[in-house]
Amino acid sequence: MTFEYSSAPESKAIVKLEPLYKLYIGGKFVAPKSGKSFASINPATEEVLAKVGYAEKSDVDKAVVAAQAGLKIWSKMAPSERSKYLYRIARIMQERSREFAVLESMDNGKPIRETRDVDVPLAAAHFFYHAGWADKLDHAGVGVNPKPYGVVGQIIPWNFPLLMLAWKVAPALATGNTVVLKPAETTPLSAMLFAQACEQAELPAGVVNIVTGDGATGAAIVNHPDISKIAFTGSTEVGKLIARSVAGTGKGLTLELGGKGANIVFEDAPLDETVEGIVNGIFFNQGHVCCAGSRLLVQENIQEELLEKLKRRMALIRLGDPLDKNTDIGAINSKEQLNKITELANSGDEEGALRFSTDCAIPSKGFWFPPTIFTGVTQAHRIASEEIFGPVLSVISFRTPQEAIEKANNTPYGLSAGIWTDKGSRILWTAKHLRAGVIWANTFNKFDPASPFGGYKESGWGREGGRHGLSAYLKGAK
Ligand code: ADP
Repeated sequence: MTFEYSSAPESKAIVKLEPLYKLYIGGKFVAPKSGKSFASINPATEEVLAKVGYAEKSDVDKAVVAAQAGLKIWSKMAPSERSKYLYRIARIMQERSREFAVLESMDNGKPIRETRDVDVPLAAAHFFYHAGWADKLDHAGVGVNPKPYGVVGQIIPWNFPLLMLAWKVAPALATGNTVVLKPAETTPLSAMLFAQACEQAELPAGVVNIVTGDGATGAAIVNHPDISKIAFTGSTEVGKLIARSVAGTGKGLTLELGGKGANIVFEDAPLDETVEGIVNGIFFNQGHVCCAGSRLLVQENIQEELLEKLKRRMALIRLGDPLDKNTDIGAINSKEQLNKITELANSGDEEGALRFSTDCAIPSKGFWFPPTIFTGVTQAHRIASEEIFGPVLSVISFRTPQEAIEKANNTPYGLSAGIWTDKGSRILWTAKHLRAGVIWANTFNKFDPASPFGGYKESGWGREGGRHGLSAYLKGAK
């Protein structure tokens, strides 16, 4: 006999959606000069949630002027005072955490369980952590009396809208910079709620400016002559474009780009725990995670047993209404992303890999993709090398630790990896040979503001979080 879960939906009542969100410039909500706007939809229902102002170059110019004015106040303020503002923002995020969590779930499609337990608490933690640094920068090991860049341009993606905002804004403010930030076009709403939180915290005008728009808005930020540093998180393709635009301008640049993380399972791994780690590694946030464990490298002699356990576990994953507290997998963020996942998964079929998807019911409206694994994947398959950014795992076997390293490193990316084994010495040996910025051992997808995050090769430049992340916002810091 099977027991079904009753639905346990979180109420939307706490969220007060506005019909039109304007740009947040110089401490005020202002309409874009062109009067243009675009819609942000709920990807689980395809309903329009709100209209959002579309910022063009002239609006970005205005935001930069406001950020320069903000800089005069912010950079001269005693660091201990800056710190108080960061604490205040962190506390407001905690006080309004349900509102942030529900809105993020509605705008992004990710399950409320994740926004409530991961995105929002971690975003607040980033502000708390950096509030602590604001008046201790002399002791951060980045030189004496380090100086901010000035006005910083920040462009973020749609997979962790509020969390990526926190990763960007908290260290920039703690180090005395002011910001012009652009959220992704499909997920602007939590950034607008954050703007309201800045207002509530009485943050001086112009310290945080938020302009909503698309790639052209992002490009206007990147190319603005009065912006001294660009921080970007998004696709490797756009990251390369930005690197080209910024080259030779003297602007600072950090890039946090794509990944194709290897989750390596050795024959002595504790299989039940490993299965939980694999599920977390690839199905967390619908697989819309740059550091996802999207390649499962499994030692050949345990492959069959591991895959059997994994398939059994996958059948228990609940897909559906993101606002239901029992939901594990929510909606794919957009139609475009669903098309991209579908196309790459189809290439797996065509190239001869074997697809296994759970037969969960797919809602009739919205964008969905069932938890899927491909076995029999070889290094030559597209699904072994291209980032799918969805709930799709490519399973590749290996015989010796050396072969595991070679396969794991055989990628243009170098962001994350996981190691599953009973032996500490094997963890150290494997970690030493992997070219990945973040390596987890017997766990996966663990994040902490004190821990630097970032990649090698085409996964990006620079680190976010910890002391290393601070130095990216300080001119001339080592
Ligand atoms: P994804 O594949 O996650 O959608 P993108 O790299 O396309 O990633 O988008 C990440 C962010 O970069 C978004 O905020 C998007 O609007 C912005 N963006 C897209 N194109 C450009 C560009 N040419 N210059 C600057 N920003 C851009």
